[in-house]
Amino acid sequence: MAINFEELKEICEVPGAPGYETRIRTYLKKRLSGLVDEIEVDPMGSIIALKRGKENKRVMAAAHMDEIGFIVNHIDSEGFVRFQPLGGFDPKTLTSQRVIIHGREDIPGVMGCKPIHIMKPEERKKSPELQDYFIDTGHSKEEVEKLVRPGDTITRQGDLMRIGNCFNGKSLDNRISVYVLVKTLEALKGKTIPYDLYAVFSVQEEVGLRGARTAASRINPDFGFGLDTTIAYDLPGAQGHEMVTSLGKGTAIKVIDGTAISDYRMVDYLKRTADKHNIKWQTEIMSAGGTDTAAIQQYGRGGSLTGAISVPTRYLHQTIEMVNEVDVDNSVKLLTQAVLQLDENDWSHDVTG
Ligand SMILES: [Zn+2]
Repeated sequence: MAINFEELKEICEVPGAPGYETRIRTYLKKRLSGLVDEIEVDPMGSIIALKRGKENKRVMAAAHMDEIGFIVNHIDSEGFVRFQPLGGFDPKTLTSQRVIIHGREDIPGVMGCKPIHIMKPEERKKSPELQDYFIDTGHSKEEVEKLVRPGDTITRQGDLMRIGNCFNGKSLDNRISVYVLVKTLEALKGKTIPYDLYAVFSVQEEVGLRGARTAASRINPDFGFGLDTTIAYDLPGAQGHEMVTSLGKGTAIKVIDGTAISDYRMVDYLKRTADKHNIKWQTEIMSAGGTDTAAIQQYGRGGSLTGAISVPTRYLHQTIEMVNEVDVDNSVKLLTQAVLQLDENDWSHDVTG
Protein backbone atom coordinates (compact mmCIF):
# COMPACT_ATOMS: atom_id res chain seq x y z
CA MET A 1 0.00 0.00 0.00
CA ALA A 2 1.66 3.22 -1.13
CA ILE A 3 1.66 6.15 1.25
CA ASN A 4 -0.56 9.00 0.07
CA PHE A 5 2.02 11.78 0.27
CA GLU A 6 -0.42 14.63 -0.42
CA GLU A 7 -2.76 13.49 2.34
CA LEU A 8 0.07 12.94 4.82
CA LYS A 9 1.43 16.39 4.00
CA GLU A 10 -1.94 17.99 4.73
CA ILE A 11 -2.32 16.08 8.00
CA CYS A 12 1.16 17.17 9.13
CA GLU A 13 0.84 20.79 8.16
CA VAL A 14 -2.50 21.70 9.75
CA PRO A 15 -1.60 23.37 13.08
CA GLY A 16 -2.75 22.09 16.48
CA ALA A 17 -0.84 23.17 19.58
CA PRO A 18 -1.96 21.41 22.80
CA GLY A 19 -5.30 22.81 23.95
CA TYR A 20 -5.80 24.57 20.60
CA GLU A 21 -6.49 21.70 18.23
CA THR A 22 -9.42 23.42 16.47
CA ARG A 23 -8.00 23.40 12.94
CA ILE A 24 -6.80 19.81 12.92
CA ARG A 25 -10.05 18.72 14.60
CA THR A 26 -12.14 20.42 11.90
CA TYR A 27 -9.96 18.86 9.21
CA LEU A 28 -10.26 15.36 10.68
CA LYS A 29 -13.99 15.50 11.36
CA LYS A 30 -14.51 16.17 7.66
CA ARG A 31 -12.03 13.47 6.66
CA LEU A 32 -13.72 10.84 8.87
CA SER A 33 -17.22 11.29 7.56
CA GLY A 34 -18.26 8.19 5.66
CA LEU A 35 -15.61 6.06 7.37
CA VAL A 36 -17.42 5.56 10.71
CA ASP A 37 -20.96 5.32 12.08
CA GLU A 38 -20.80 8.18 14.57
CA ILE A 39 -18.50 11.11 15.27
CA GLU A 40 -18.57 12.99 18.53
CA VAL A 41 -16.29 15.56 20.10
CA ASP A 42 -15.94 15.12 23.85
CA PRO A 43 -15.94 18.09 26.26
CA MET A 44 -12.13 18.38 26.21
CA GLY A 45 -12.06 18.37 22.42
CA SER A 46 -10.93 14.87 21.47
CA ILE A 47 -12.68 13.32 18.47
CA ILE A 48 -14.33 9.98 19.25
CA ALA A 49 -15.28 8.22 16.02
CA LEU A 50 -17.25 5.01 16.40
CA LYS A 51 -17.34 2.12 13.95
CA ARG A 52 -19.80 -0.44 15.20
CA GLY A 53 -18.87 -4.10 15.53
CA LYS A 54 -20.82 -7.34 15.91
CA GLU A 55 -20.56 -7.55 19.68
CA ASN A 56 -20.85 -4.94 22.33
CA LYS A 57 -17.23 -4.90 23.52
CA ARG A 58 -15.29 -1.70 23.20
CA VAL A 59 -11.91 -1.17 21.58
CA MET A 60 -10.20 2.21 21.90
CA ALA A 61 -7.47 3.11 19.40
CA ALA A 62 -6.04 6.55 20.10
CA ALA A 63 -3.65 8.83 18.25
CA HIS A 64 -3.04 12.29 19.65
CA MET A 65 -3.67 15.11 17.20
CA ASP A 66 -1.88 17.87 19.11
CA GLU A 67 1.72 18.80 18.31
CA ILE A 68 4.42 20.39 20.46
CA GLY A 69 4.25 24.16 20.25
CA PHE A 70 4.49 27.34 22.29
CA ILE A 71 2.22 29.99 23.77
CA VAL A 72 2.88 33.73 23.69
CA ASN A 73 3.39 35.19 27.16
CA HIS A 74 4.78 38.65 26.39
CA ILE A 75 5.56 41.15 23.67
CA ASP A 76 8.66 43.12 24.65
CA SER A 77 9.39 46.82 24.19
CA GLU A 78 10.95 46.22 20.77
CA GLY A 79 8.13 44.02 19.52
CA PHE A 80 9.89 40.68 19.99
CA VAL A 81 7.53 37.91 21.04
CA ARG A 82 8.37 35.87 24.14
CA PHE A 83 6.80 32.52 24.86
CA GLN A 84 6.67 29.41 26.97
CA PRO A 85 6.64 25.85 25.59
CA LEU A 86 3.65 23.54 25.22
CA GLY A 87 5.40 20.18 25.33
CA GLY A 88 9.04 19.16 25.51
CA PHE A 89 11.42 20.75 23.01
CA ASP A 90 15.10 20.18 22.43
CA PRO A 91 16.06 23.90 22.60
CA LYS A 92 19.29 23.62 20.61
CA THR A 93 17.32 22.67 17.49
CA LEU A 94 15.31 25.90 17.50
CA THR A 95 17.97 28.34 16.32
CA SER A 96 16.76 30.30 13.28
CA GLN A 97 13.77 28.01 12.77
CA ARG A 98 10.61 29.42 11.27
CA VAL A 99 7.44 29.34 13.31
CA ILE A 100 3.88 30.56 12.84
CA ILE A 101 2.13 32.60 15.49
CA HIS A 102 -1.61 31.93 15.38
CA GLY A 103 -2.73 35.46 16.19
CA ARG A 104 -5.54 37.42 14.59
CA GLU A 105 -4.05 35.92 11.46
CA ASP A 106 -1.16 33.48 10.92
CA ILE A 107 2.04 35.48 11.40
CA PRO A 108 5.34 33.95 10.30
CA GLY A 109 8.30 34.49 12.58
CA VAL A 110 11.79 33.25 13.22
CA MET A 111 13.32 31.93 16.44
CA GLY A 112 16.12 34.38 17.06
CA CYS A 113 19.06 34.24 19.44
CA LYS A 114 22.53 35.75 19.80
CA PRO A 115 24.83 35.40 16.75
CA ILE A 116 28.00 33.36 17.23
CA HIS A 117 30.26 36.35 16.48
CA ILE A 118 29.36 38.13 19.67
CA MET A 119 29.20 35.08 21.93
CA LYS A 120 31.87 34.80 24.59
CA PRO A 121 34.07 31.67 24.19
CA GLU A 122 32.27 29.94 27.09
CA GLU A 123 28.85 30.78 25.59
CA ARG A 124 29.84 29.10 22.32
CA LYS A 125 30.37 25.82 24.12
CA LYS A 126 26.99 25.54 25.79
CA SER A 127 23.66 24.86 24.13
CA PRO A 128 21.08 27.61 24.29
CA GLU A 129 18.14 27.29 26.64
CA LEU A 130 14.53 27.99 25.73
CA GLN A 131 14.63 31.36 27.53
CA ASP A 132 17.46 32.52 25.25
CA TYR A 133 15.09 32.63 22.28
CA PHE A 134 12.63 35.26 21.10
CA ILE A 135 10.44 35.38 18.03
CA ASP A 136 11.17 38.01 15.42
CA THR A 137 8.17 38.70 13.19
CA GLY A 138 9.80 41.47 11.17
CA HIS A 139 7.00 43.81 12.32
CA SER A 140 7.21 46.91 14.49
CA LYS A 141 6.01 46.71 18.09
CA GLU A 142 2.78 48.55 17.15
CA GLU A 143 2.07 46.17 14.29
CA VAL A 144 2.84 43.11 16.43
CA GLU A 145 0.45 44.32 19.12
CA LYS A 146 -2.34 44.62 16.58
CA LEU A 147 -1.83 41.02 15.45
CA VAL A 148 -0.57 39.06 18.45
CA ARG A 149 -1.84 38.75 22.02
CA PRO A 150 -0.53 36.83 25.02
CA GLY A 151 -2.23 33.43 24.94
CA ASP A 152 -1.90 32.99 21.17
CA THR A 153 -0.29 29.71 20.21
CA ILE A 154 2.76 29.11 18.05
CA THR A 155 3.63 26.07 15.95
CA ARG A 156 6.63 25.14 13.85
CA GLN A 157 6.61 25.98 10.17
CA GLY A 158 7.85 23.20 7.96
CA ASP A 159 6.77 21.48 4.77
CA LEU A 160 6.64 17.72 4.66
CA MET A 161 9.25 16.40 2.23
CA ARG A 162 10.06 13.04 0.82
CA ILE A 163 13.74 12.22 1.41
CA GLY A 164 14.84 8.87 0.02
CA ASN A 165 12.41 6.28 1.39
CA CYS A 166 11.47 8.58 4.24
CA PHE A 167 9.21 11.49 5.07
CA ASN A 168 10.70 14.46 6.84
CA GLY A 169 8.87 17.39 8.39
CA LYS A 170 7.40 18.93 11.52
CA SER A 171 4.80 17.19 13.67
CA LEU A 172 5.26 13.67 12.38
CA ASP A 173 4.85 13.09 16.13
CA ASN A 174 2.02 12.34 16.05
CA ARG A 175 0.39 13.13 12.77
CA ILE A 176 1.96 10.00 11.32
CA SER A 177 -0.21 7.95 13.71
CA VAL A 178 -3.21 10.13 12.90
CA TYR A 179 -2.57 9.09 9.29
CA VAL A 180 -2.22 5.43 10.36
CA LEU A 181 -5.57 5.54 12.18
CA VAL A 182 -7.37 7.27 9.28
CA LYS A 183 -5.94 4.76 6.80
CA THR A 184 -6.93 1.86 9.07
CA LEU A 185 -10.52 3.12 9.14
CA GLU A 186 -10.36 3.37 5.37
CA ALA A 187 -9.05 -0.22 5.12
CA LEU A 188 -11.87 -1.40 7.41
CA LYS A 189 -14.56 0.35 5.37
CA GLY A 190 -17.27 -2.09 4.37
CA LYS A 191 -15.76 -4.82 6.57
CA THR A 192 -17.46 -6.32 9.60
CA ILE A 193 -15.40 -5.95 12.76
CA PRO A 194 -15.95 -8.06 15.87
CA TYR A 195 -16.17 -5.29 18.48
CA ASP A 196 -17.09 -1.59 18.54
CA LEU A 197 -14.06 0.42 17.52
CA TYR A 198 -13.66 3.87 19.05
CA ALA A 199 -11.06 5.73 17.00
CA VAL A 200 -9.91 8.60 19.18
CA PHE A 201 -7.95 11.62 18.00
CA SER A 202 -6.93 12.94 21.38
CA VAL A 203 -5.99 16.41 22.58
CA GLN A 204 -3.25 17.60 24.93
CA GLU A 205 -1.08 14.48 24.87
CA GLU A 206 2.12 16.48 24.67
CA VAL A 207 1.41 18.14 28.01
CA GLY A 208 0.61 14.88 29.83
CA LEU A 209 -1.84 12.48 28.13
CA ARG A 210 -4.73 14.67 29.23
CA GLY A 211 -7.27 14.16 26.43
CA ALA A 212 -6.82 10.38 26.28
CA ARG A 213 -7.57 10.10 29.98
CA THR A 214 -10.98 11.69 29.73
CA ALA A 215 -11.74 9.88 26.46
CA ALA A 216 -10.85 6.53 28.09
CA SER A 217 -13.06 7.24 31.07
CA ARG A 218 -15.92 8.12 28.69
CA ILE A 219 -15.47 5.05 26.46
CA ASN A 220 -14.54 2.60 29.21
CA PRO A 221 -12.70 0.30 26.77
CA ASP A 222 -12.16 -3.46 27.08
CA PHE A 223 -9.20 -3.36 24.69
CA GLY A 224 -6.85 -0.55 23.77
CA PHE A 225 -4.26 0.41 21.19
CA GLY A 226 -2.04 3.41 21.75
CA LEU A 227 -0.79 4.87 18.49
CA ASP A 228 2.22 7.14 18.57
CA THR A 229 5.77 7.60 17.43
CA THR A 230 8.77 6.11 19.23
CA ILE A 231 12.49 6.79 19.31
CA ALA A 232 14.60 5.54 16.42
CA TYR A 233 18.15 6.29 17.50
CA ASP A 234 19.70 4.14 14.77
CA LEU A 235 22.26 6.84 14.12
CA PRO A 236 26.05 7.27 14.07
CA GLY A 237 27.50 6.71 17.51
CA ALA A 238 24.49 4.87 18.91
CA GLN A 239 25.05 1.60 20.77
CA GLY A 240 22.72 -1.32 20.12
CA HIS A 241 21.03 -1.01 23.50
CA GLU A 242 20.27 2.69 22.97
CA MET A 243 18.56 2.53 19.58
CA VAL A 244 15.06 1.50 20.76
CA THR A 245 13.98 1.03 17.11
CA SER A 246 15.45 1.39 13.61
CA LEU A 247 13.92 3.04 10.59
CA GLY A 248 12.71 0.67 7.90
CA LYS A 249 12.66 -2.44 10.09
CA GLY A 250 8.88 -2.39 10.47
CA THR A 251 6.16 -1.24 12.80
CA ALA A 252 7.09 -1.22 16.48
CA ILE A 253 5.18 -3.30 19.01
CA LYS A 254 5.52 -1.56 22.36
CA VAL A 255 6.59 -3.72 25.28
CA ILE A 256 7.32 -0.97 27.79
CA ASP A 257 7.91 2.76 28.14
CA GLY A 258 8.17 5.16 31.07
CA THR A 259 4.43 5.17 31.80
CA ALA A 260 3.03 1.85 30.57
CA ILE A 261 3.84 -1.83 30.44
CA SER A 262 1.82 -3.20 27.54
CA ASP A 263 -0.38 -6.14 28.47
CA TYR A 264 1.74 -9.23 27.76
CA ARG A 265 -1.23 -10.89 26.06
CA MET A 266 -1.59 -7.95 23.70
CA VAL A 267 2.14 -7.93 22.91
CA ASP A 268 1.95 -11.62 22.10
CA TYR A 269 -1.25 -11.18 20.04
CA LEU A 270 0.27 -8.34 18.00
CA LYS A 271 3.46 -10.32 17.27
CA ARG A 272 1.52 -13.39 16.18
CA THR A 273 -0.91 -11.34 14.08
CA ALA A 274 2.03 -9.61 12.36
CA ASP A 275 3.78 -12.92 11.62
CA LYS A 276 0.59 -14.45 10.27
CA HIS A 277 0.15 -11.62 7.74
CA ASN A 278 3.82 -11.12 6.83
CA ILE A 279 3.86 -7.74 8.51
CA LYS A 280 7.35 -6.45 9.33
CA TRP A 281 7.70 -5.61 13.03
CA GLN A 282 10.25 -4.86 15.73
CA THR A 283 9.93 -4.53 19.48
CA GLU A 284 9.92 -1.20 21.28
CA ILE A 285 11.50 -1.20 24.72
CA MET A 286 11.93 2.28 26.12
CA SER A 287 13.05 3.35 29.58
CA ALA A 288 11.47 6.82 29.60
CA GLY A 289 8.73 8.79 27.90
CA GLY A 290 5.09 7.87 27.62
CA THR A 291 2.12 7.93 25.30
CA ASP A 292 -1.67 7.74 25.42
CA THR A 293 -1.20 3.98 25.92
CA ALA A 294 -0.92 4.57 29.66
CA ALA A 295 -4.16 6.59 29.74
CA ILE A 296 -6.09 4.01 27.72
CA GLN A 297 -4.82 1.23 29.94
CA GLN A 298 -5.68 2.91 33.24
CA TYR A 299 -8.55 5.35 32.85
CA GLY A 300 -11.49 3.15 31.91
CA ARG A 301 -13.35 1.61 34.85
CA GLY A 302 -11.05 -1.17 36.06
CA GLY A 303 -8.52 -0.64 33.26
CA SER A 304 -8.25 -2.26 29.85
CA LEU A 305 -6.20 -4.83 28.01
CA THR A 306 -3.89 -2.50 26.16
CA GLY A 307 -0.86 -2.49 23.89
CA ALA A 308 0.58 -0.07 21.38
CA ILE A 309 1.68 0.20 17.80
CA SER A 310 4.39 2.80 17.31
CA VAL A 311 6.03 4.36 14.28
CA PRO A 312 9.85 4.53 14.60
CA THR A 313 10.87 8.19 14.29
CA ARG A 314 14.26 9.88 14.12
CA TYR A 315 14.83 13.35 15.62
CA LEU A 316 11.75 13.25 17.86
CA HIS A 317 10.75 16.62 19.34
CA GLN A 318 13.34 18.39 17.24
CA THR A 319 12.18 20.80 14.57
CA ILE A 320 11.95 18.17 11.85
CA GLU A 321 11.23 14.51 12.42
CA MET A 322 11.67 11.57 10.06
CA VAL A 323 9.82 8.29 9.43
CA ASN A 324 10.22 5.51 6.87
CA GLU A 325 7.41 4.52 4.51
CA VAL A 326 7.89 0.79 5.21
CA ASP A 327 7.17 1.33 8.91
CA VAL A 328 4.10 3.46 8.21
CA ASP A 329 2.65 0.93 5.79
CA ASN A 330 3.24 -1.97 8.19
CA SER A 331 1.66 -0.01 11.05
CA VAL A 332 -1.58 0.42 9.06
CA LYS A 333 -1.55 -3.28 8.17
CA LEU A 334 -0.98 -4.43 11.74
CA LEU A 335 -3.64 -2.20 13.28
CA THR A 336 -6.15 -3.29 10.62
CA GLN A 337 -5.53 -7.01 11.20
CA ALA A 338 -5.38 -6.59 14.98
CA VAL A 339 -8.83 -4.99 15.01
CA LEU A 340 -10.30 -7.59 12.64
CA GLN A 341 -9.18 -10.66 14.60
CA LEU A 342 -9.57 -9.51 18.18
CA ASP A 343 -12.34 -12.04 18.89
CA GLU A 344 -10.25 -14.98 17.67
CA ASN A 345 -7.77 -14.81 20.50
CA ASP A 346 -7.91 -16.45 23.90
CA TRP A 347 -7.40 -13.55 26.28
CA SER A 348 -7.44 -15.50 29.52
CA HIS A 349 -4.48 -15.04 31.84
CA ASP A 350 -3.66 -18.73 31.80
CA VAL A 351 -2.53 -18.83 28.18
CA THR A 352 1.16 -18.37 27.65
CA GLY A 353 2.34 -17.33 24.20
ZN1 LIG B 1 3.58 11.80 20.45
